[in-house]
Amino acid sequence: MKLEHSFAKELTSLSSEVKPIKLLNARLAVFNRDLAAQLDLPAEWQQQIHLFDALYTPDGELNRYSVAQKYGGHQFGHWNPELGDGRGLLLAEAIDSLKQRWDLHLKGAGPTPYSRFADGRAVLRSTIREYLASEALHYLGVPTSRALCLITSEEAVYREKQERGAKMIRVCQSHLRFGHFEYFYHSQQPQKLQNLFDYCFKYHFVDCAKAENPYVAMLEKIVMDTAKLIAKWQAFGFNHGVMNTDNMSIHGITFDYGPYAFLDDFDPKFICNHSDPQGRYSFDSQPGIGLWNLNALAQSFTPHIEIAQIKQALSLYEPTLLQEYSTLMHNKLGLLPNPAVAETNSYIINTWLDMLAAEKKDYSLAFRQLCEFDIFNDNPQLRDQFIDRGRFDEWAKHYILMLTKQGIEQTQRQSRMRQHNPQIVLRNYILQQVIDRAEEGDFEMFHTFLEALKNPYETIAKYKQFAAPPPEWGKHLEISCSS
Ligand code: AMP
Ligand code: MG
Repeated sequence: MKLEHSFAKELTSLSSEVKPIKLLNARLAVFNRDLAAQLDLPAEWQQQIHLFDALYTPDGELNRYSVAQKYGGHQFGHWNPELGDGRGLLLAEAIDSLKQRWDLHLKGAGPTPYSRFADGRAVLRSTIREYLASEALHYLGVPTSRALCLITSEEAVYREKQERGAKMIRVCQSHLRFGHFEYFYHSQQPQKLQNLFDYCFKYHFVDCAKAENPYVAMLEKIVMDTAKLIAKWQAFGFNHGVMNTDNMSIHGITFDYGPYAFLDDFDPKFICNHSDPQGRYSFDSQPGIGLWNLNALAQSFTPHIEIAQIKQALSLYEPTLLQEYSTLMHNKLGLLPNPAVAETNSYIINTWLDMLAAEKKDYSLAFRQLCEFDIFNDNPQLRDQFIDRGRFDEWAKHYILMLTKQGIEQTQRQSRMRQHNPQIVLRNYILQQVIDRAEEGDFEMFHTFLEALKNPYETIAKYKQFAAPPPEWGKHLEISCSS
């Protein structure tokens, strides 16, 4: 295992040195052994709680250079230069056996110069939410930050009520956000912006650095990675909820989990964040907001790229997103992409989605049930769930015709579809039960649910409870931003 501190050492003027603060009676509640092995971290770390609380390795390596990063961000469309790591610290970068770099970032580490009036803490509820969501998306194949461990404690932290203080270590390629670039651009610190770009070309956009115009190549890469990410959110029914530019990673990964939700009943206008009554970050606004955010980021490339080139890079967004979304939806419906029948396939996909929305069907379960669709049969189990059976029959006629035309053997198609339509998704109402128990010190349900989320496509008897449709009361749980 090798730890490095390239950000802290090479970008000293973009961050502040801060040491983590211990929590009262901290206890390591969860440790992600798979991830630790992938990062090549020592297995014995798991036995040493002090590592994960105040983070002292015997040689002090982990927190010797811990830093809070400065950034800004467009929050709900308004520029805010006052942001930064208010409760998180970059501890170190782990270099894995493939020589890939992974940030180890401690969330809930205590106040920093960027905490403003907040306490620098994280609560158990929000760390559990982040841990499980990031693992769930990872196992669905959606790029995301990961969770290495979760520490619970008896520290009282005050939100809308008193809660338990907690910490987690988040892992991702880097914690560079759109808001980092925006901050140094808008605060007119060209040298620091340049240092940031140089750092990116050295460590994170190495291939782009070799391109004819590295800045164009970097912007294009961020545009395309973001487009592909958001296409995946749309296909899996994931609503991020706070797509402020400080929560957007330049690596095109899901990042900074707040009041997110997976869809229950399909409502394209679903808003998971109750602090967003206008629905700026509603489910169906996500693709448009992704482009808005990229426009905001692209401003900071203007010292290096002509406007026409920026427009050209941004123009890649829509076709990339549509292409990725189309591929995912073809897979979900068991259709084969084919330019000759593209229009009919789009009709089948869109009409299916319209039917789910019109009758508020559970998004994930409806797709899972569709896996059993039988072209030789009337599919009463599926059909009877729709009030408008005429519409279903009309749609099914086109679907059967296309499946027949594409000539894929039925059982093969069904099993392929099961690999693209999760049986188990992270439901807010289950998550709430996991949190309630963990608040009492019982992490058993956490671990069982986590195991289930690691196998989202399999039908496993002991996880059946997590695959059931949500009860009515479980569908409209309000999630606030306070975490
Ligand atoms: P978020 O809504 O978590 O993306 O956070 C927005 C900004 O508020 C970031 O600059 C965070 O670091 C900061 N922040 C959020 N919660 C806290 C907290 N409890 N203490 C200090 N800063 C915080
Ligand atoms: Mg944030």
